[in-house]
Amino acid sequence: MKPITALLPAVALLASACAAAQEQPRNITANAVAEPVEANAPTLVVAISVDQLSSDLFEQYRAHYTGGLARLLDGAVFPNGYQGQAATETCPGHSTILTGYLPANTGIIANGWADFTVARDRKEIYCAEDATLEPQQNAERYVASAINLMVPTLGARLKEVYPDSRNVAVAGKDRAALMMAGPTADAIYWYTGGDFGNFGASSSSAAVDRINEKVRGTIANGAGAIRYPEWCDTRAIPFRVGERIVGDGRFVLEPGDGRGFLASPRSDSAVLDIAAGLVIEHKLGGRGVPDVLSIGLSATDYVGHGYGTNGIESCLTVANIDTELEAFFSVLDASDIDYVVVLTADHGGLDIPERATAQGAPAAHRVDPALEPEAIGAALSEQFDLPVPALLGDAPFGDIYLNPAISAAQRAAVLAQAKASYTAHPDVAAAYTSEEIMATAVPQGDPRGWSLLERLRASHYPGRSGNLLVLLQPGVTPIPDPSSYVATHGSPWDYDRRVPIIFWREGISNFEQPLPALTVDILPSLMGVLSIDSDTQFDGICRDIMGGPESSCE
Ligand code: ZN
Repeated sequence: MKPITALLPAVALLASACAAAQEQPRNITANAVAEPVEANAPTLVVAISVDQLSSDLFEQYRAHYTGGLARLLDGAVFPNGYQGQAATETCPGHSTILTGYLPANTGIIANGWADFTVARDRKEIYCAEDATLEPQQNAERYVASAINLMVPTLGARLKEVYPDSRNVAVAGKDRAALMMAGPTADAIYWYTGGDFGNFGASSSSAAVDRINEKVRGTIANGAGAIRYPEWCDTRAIPFRVGERIVGDGRFVLEPGDGRGFLASPRSDSAVLDIAAGLVIEHKLGGRGVPDVLSIGLSATDYVGHGYGTNGIESCLTVANIDTELEAFFSVLDASDIDYVVVLTADHGGLDIPERATAQGAPAAHRVDPALEPEAIGAALSEQFDLPVPALLGDAPFGDIYLNPAISAAQRAAVLAQAKASYTAHPDVAAAYTSEEIMATAVPQGDPRGWSLLERLRASHYPGRSGNLLVLLQPGVTPIPDPSSYVATHGSPWDYDRRVPIIFWREGISNFEQPLPALTVDILPSLMGVLSIDSDTQFDGICRDIMGGPESSCE
């Protein structure tokens, strides 16, 4: 359960929220702004992405929610939301949420890709970096940027209609904040290893400074085990994974462990505290024009990777989100802001095979290391007498690149043999060349019916994507050696694609729509709620969230 001290920032903000509300008349007249907000349109969009919150994980504990997640379940609930694309990773997933476009059009095909045309030695491109710039400090590996995102975000679209609109974001991960806010963020914060840095145009924030001081103190002093609600008890079963035991962890924080802070519910609590502080300081939703606040809760992902998804660690992390979200919403309520919330996830996830096999899924297993690109590539190099490694890639699945040093005369034959070598392996479901994928149309409609080729097409972007895309069989964990991460996501299967999509606004009717929706539907749906007309053809459609005779799409 949430420690009582964690409530204090929210309470303090609540008090300052009341003061701000008294100073600032909220009903700004129409002539005070360029464009009056449409009657009945909310003045704040709160977009929350819970990293690696699969529908499976969300639903597992649904009966127990009493806080912010329970409130959202009183709204418009799409339990079968989909990140439709094959590349179920953080960066592509976040790029779909506030753009209305699949990664095939956002250009964010993965967390990273290869670009053999860049001048620097390192040819790997991080999805959220500007590869044309050199880091200012040696400690930085890259210059964080949203420059690779090829389409506008909601924040950018709002500024077109309402130039005074503010686009604010905070997340545990830089790529979560950057892909939801895009390049036009006014204030944008993410965790930098010891505290949260401000990477936006706005000046420093007293609220964030105060929360950062608390974060640094927690990391410096360490912290004891987090108490968890009784309903998580049944999940506390230890499982051996390699040299480690997972399943019954309670997030004891060793002094100085900044990484451990991020990979615990404590970082989600800090992100929501900062979000509440930014609402107050930027007067979000209180200036007569619609603003957007993007929130990336990253702990669920680090916890999933570090401990798997079915242990007490994940249970506690979800329980903490339920509690902390309600504290955050209560700050908005106290500020009398008319806000609309959407909560979703960038992708789902799969539990560790060591636990899955003990819990009724005997076929779950770790991938054969013989599928690593170096291993397949070494055999190809020998067969074709190549002086270089034939294949480049960072995992035994996903984007695989032919070494650009391979001659034009040999490339087609090497690629055909690479495809044959992968598909011959029983852990592989399919492998398709970029050419085959690009001959397929970007899919639309019900994502359950998309073929594997169509799922691949949904996250394929020429010039960034690999020459060969490899998909593993369902239930295969693509981490051969679990000495650091033990579990992951990234497959084209529903445990990685299916995520909750939930809208909430005061006054809408509660409903649950079990037919599938896509995360690319979120942006057109929010444009509908905001009464912003657009002739743009999105990959998604407007979903009516009203639940009654009125429609938010007309
Ligand atoms: Zn993620």
